[in-house]
Amino acid sequence: MTTALAGEVPALAEAALAAVSELISADLSALEETQLLELIRTVEKLRRKVEALDNVTIPELEARGIPARYVLRSTSQFVAGLLNLAPAESGPRVRHAHELGVRVQLTGEIGEPLLPALAAARADGVVSARQAEVIIGCLGKLRGTSLPVEELAKAETFLVEQAELFDAGSLAGIAKQLLDTLLPDGTLADERWQQRRRFLSCVPNGEGMHRLTADLDTETAALALAVLHSLAAPKPSSDGEHDQRTAGQRMHDAFGSVLKIAQRSAELPRSAGLPATVLITMTVEQFETRTGLAATSYGQKMSVDQALRIADQACIAWVVHNSKGGILNYGTTQRCATEKQTLVLVARDKGCAFPGCTDPPEWTEKHHVVPWSEGGQTDLSNLVLLCDHHHDRIDTGGWQIAMRDGVPWFLPPAWLDPTRTPRRNDRISMR
Ligand SMILES: [Zn+2]
Repeated sequence: MTTALAGEVPALAEAALAAVSELISADLSALEETQLLELIRTVEKLRRKVEALDNVTIPELEARGIPARYVLRSTSQFVAGLLNLAPAESGPRVRHAHELGVRVQLTGEIGEPLLPALAAARADGVVSARQAEVIIGCLGKLRGTSLPVEELAKAETFLVEQAELFDAGSLAGIAKQLLDTLLPDGTLADERWQQRRRFLSCVPNGEGMHRLTADLDTETAALALAVLHSLAAPKPSSDGEHDQRTAGQRMHDAFGSVLKIAQRSAELPRSAGLPATVLITMTVEQFETRTGLAATSYGQKMSVDQALRIADQACIAWVVHNSKGGILNYGTTQRCATEKQTLVLVARDKGCAFPGCTDPPEWTEKHHVVPWSEGGQTDLSNLVLLCDHHHDRIDTGGWQIAMRDGVPWFLPPAWLDPTRTPRRNDRISMR
């Protein structure tokens, strides 16, 4: 291959563009089938070759210090601005160029790409961008280890060969196998790699919604799945039907709930960074006779005396209720005073009060039985804890909430239960 002179480059690019334009407007109807299939293969090769041009232009851009001259934080940001690309598009291109482009040494000499075999295969148009992503990811993990350089080179050649046989999905499986073979104790390298790769973005999808994309490290993924799955379980429906939401919709709503919970967590009393709200409940008999066992919100039991003693400490709230669960008296230390109502509601409802719902207090919000806009007061007799899901649906579902003996009861809509027999959450009645 001869190297084009600088003066020829603009004309070459124009000619390539013109050739592609001619192909786009060509009449393909007269092609034989084999010719058509060949054309489709050639177009794919062309696409890959054109993509590989980034590995030439981007290093040149950086060698001249152009992104820095425009005071942009990164080459990716510069390329995104120049070409009107989303960061998710420009990022991989720049990353690939760093691995597959020539490297200009401090001496001005041109050095080999970091991954020469893959660079050559990309330039030949035999490896797709996605396949290259898989190979770069795998070799990046290996590079963070003590694996000898020649072993790394062998792994690169092997993966490039496999890329000519398998699509990106299968190639990822092969790469994983290779990692397991070369790094039987690869967990540490894996963690380091995950720390570099971790990523999350939430960007407009052009249809008025947002697309959430993420590469989560193992720990975050485990946490996300555990929390989201527990919040995404089907809920007892307010219309007497099964939960009508799809699994994806429930996961979406669960994600929304997580965010609301996080937002509300600022409202919860905290002490020295710990979720220090210890809530103690006891009956009026226990309170008056100082006998029996009081319960904390975490389920531990302790003597009433002990409970009243620790109630003097910071951020302890105590609640006395009648045998029906209504609140007779309550108290908190000074630091928690502004949160009194929340704490007392938690003691009374112990979570979402909708019949059958098991969501814990941390996942609930305060619902006004008589809406605040209609003169409803923000006091205990007018407040009920409801989870996000039931808060959204309680009014539209035709349910009514009535307070009896200081406890919320739920009257089903007449079409669901003609007698409208009040129901309440077992959690409250099982006190
Ligand atoms: Zn609920």
